[in-house]
Amino acid sequence: MINHSTIPILPKKENILGILGGGQLGKMIAIAASNAGYKTHLYCPKGDNPAETVVSSITHGAWDDFDKLVEFSNNVISVTSEFENIPSKTLELLANKTSVIPNSKVFRSAQIRSKEKEIAERSGFKTPQWFLIKNTDDLITASKSMNKDGILKTNSLGYDGKGQVRINQQSNLFETWEALGSVECVLEEILEFKREISIMYFKSTDNTDGFFPISENYHENGILKKTIAPAVLSMEIENNLKLQTKKLCENLGLYGIIAIELFELFDGSIVFNEIAPRPHNSFHWTLNGCDNSQFDILVRTMCGLPVKDVKPNGKWEMTNLIGQYEDIITETSKDQDYLLYLYGKEQTKPGRKMGHLNKRIN
Ligand code: ATP
Ligand code: MG
Repeated sequence: MINHSTIPILPKKENILGILGGGQLGKMIAIAASNAGYKTHLYCPKGDNPAETVVSSITHGAWDDFDKLVEFSNNVISVTSEFENIPSKTLELLANKTSVIPNSKVFRSAQIRSKEKEIAERSGFKTPQWFLIKNTDDLITASKSMNKDGILKTNSLGYDGKGQVRINQQSNLFETWEALGSVECVLEEILEFKREISIMYFKSTDNTDGFFPISENYHENGILKKTIAPAVLSMEIENNLKLQTKKLCENLGLYGIIAIELFELFDGSIVFNEIAPRPHNSFHWTLNGCDNSQFDILVRTMCGLPVKDVKPNGKWEMTNLIGQYEDIITETSKDQDYLLYLYGKEQTKPGRKMGHLNKRIN
């Protein structure tokens, strides 16, 4: 595996940054890299890829096309993935030739719910009561011993609330199991929470690190709808959360950025939900709400440039445009305080994230 360079990677012609995945996160990483003077090279399968319009070069290939991946890795000095379900084999192959940020271990841990919960618990986080479910017998036993409503989630490949079903004591567990594809799952207790929050930590390859202000998140049908930030927490709770986050990232060996989704319960305690080792939707407000956005900071961490805590410049609200968005932008375009980011996806589908609006609220 290539060691991360201790010499900063400055924006020179030969220092091209690699991006895996062509979605909106890839697009916004490429724009930040370009603003900082770096050329970018995108690797992704052919498709409706918004990032393609803003990168310097593109390789279309499958995640297991090892010849193309080797060629790509020869062209880039540092690479990151916007795609959370990137196979770890792909990242391991790239790591022979270039610096991969975050590394494959971090992505693998984020891809398997039972693994991320175990590592969170080892780092001092509370998690909802949960059970690993390998078959219907496990499901019946776990749901009896839990004795309350739960959420059954596939152990891997879930996103935007996909791959999960709520169950209660009346549910037909055989049908639920089949509906999720009869694959390994986790069963979690349903928590009553005051609000959902997320924290973002980052560490550059020069070993400097920092946090963004915390975000407060509102979901609809399992999809993030709105973020308000910065969220106010008591100093003691925030400091403790930061310590646990740093411990988790030490255990993962993280370089790059990571978001952790959390529940704040009515008694003020914080419970771990999941991690995402990439830019996160709940930090899109940082595009306007901070001098350095999450995308700018990711680029700095990939290049070994020093980083520190990022401060907010006011209170911000981020609203996702999900599915049909035309009416919303007709209305909000009358007001220049709504800052529109439309991703440029060709196909609008219900539940698909098409763009977002940032607005300063004080
Ligand atoms: P995404 O990729 O959008 O973050 P996901 O599909 O990986 O989501 P989760 O984050 O696990 O799934 O769940 C989506 C949402 O469902 C959470 O943000 C929360 O609103 C709700 N949820 C998940 N687990 C629980 C729980 N144990 N108790 C209560 N609500 C939950
Ligand atoms: Mg989530």
